[in-house]
Amino acid sequence: MKPESTRQLVGEALQKAENILLVSHIRPDGDAIGALLGLGLSLIQAGKTVQIVSRDGVPPNLRFLKGSERVQRSVTGMARLIVVVDCSDLERTGNLLEGEMVDVNIDHHITNLHFARYNLVEPTAVATSAILAECLPEWGLPMDASVASALLTGIITDTIGFRTANMNPAALRLAADLMEKGAHLSEVYRRGLVQKTFEAARFWGAGLMRLQRSDSLLWTTLRQVDRQEAGYPGNDDADLVNMLSGVDGDVVVVLNEQKSGKIKVSWRARPGLDISVLALQFGGGGHPAAAGAEVPGSLSDVEHRVLEATRKFLDEKAGTNGKGNA
Ligand code: AMP
Ligand code: MN
Ligand code: MN
Repeated sequence: MKPESTRQLVGEALQKAENILLVSHIRPDGDAIGALLGLGLSLIQAGKTVQIVSRDGVPPNLRFLKGSERVQRSVTGMARLIVVVDCSDLERTGNLLEGEMVDVNIDHHITNLHFARYNLVEPTAVATSAILAECLPEWGLPMDASVASALLTGIITDTIGFRTANMNPAALRLAADLMEKGAHLSEVYRRGLVQKTFEAARFWGAGLMRLQRSDSLLWTTLRQVDRQEAGYPGNDDADLVNMLSGVDGDVVVVLNEQKSGKIKVSWRARPGLDISVLALQFGGGGHPAAAGAEVPGSLSDVEHRVLEATRKFLDEKAGTNGKGNA
């Protein structure tokens, strides 16, 4: 008899469970919310009791998604199947699950630590939402327009509008399937990716003013005072790093000062480089082309350490590869 695949085992666990807790990562992106709502709404439609938790809530630009009002910021109650989505490690949940055994880990990060009983980790998937878009029908779970819109949001935001190097024909077909199920591509694209608030644009301005370059490395900082002056309410970078990944260079780094005293570091690399190893060195994780870490220390101290390590990484690549080779 063929052994059951992880997909099958996770499907069975979800079918059996009555009471399910879904959790994703802090400073949630479109894939975190897309995967939470896509799976959450589908399970609710299948008659389950579901608690959907994101420590930092739902970013305002994603609140157009149906079901976002159901998202809680903390866990209440107990006795349930615990499912974590789009998190490479448990700290990413904002330590919402301290001391709990996680049942299911659904993710696509190459740096995933396989922290659960069942680890459905597929690093070739463009988004956790893409894994779910394939799996929900396999698991016999419903997919209406609201589920499809949530999952399409995850695919579009993680691939920055179908343009990251890991894009593949299957992901485009999945997106087409989701459109056929009722997802509204242009709305998801506009709200999830393109439209920015006035405050976000002003916050970008502070980061753009300080943009620096040394050889093929670009970097900038976002400070708490920039956030206040711009009136930007989020604790993320308002997507500045993705915008800067379009500027000529090999690697771009954004160092984003957090209230916690830590510095959120985001790296983006041109195709052919794998900066997830750098993020891992700093206790974070991610993908070859996009990775992040939360590093304790002052902005200037972390900036110094991170830039030094990133320069060393680029120098070693230049030594082995020849500079500019993909
Ligand atoms: P970001 O720079 O926050 O947009 O993140 C880029 C990628 O790295 C995303 O796939 C994140 O999930 C991942 N990532 C960001 N920060 C961390 C972290 N502290 N630990 C693990 N993965 C992270
Ligand atoms: Mn994510
Ligand atoms: Mn993701």
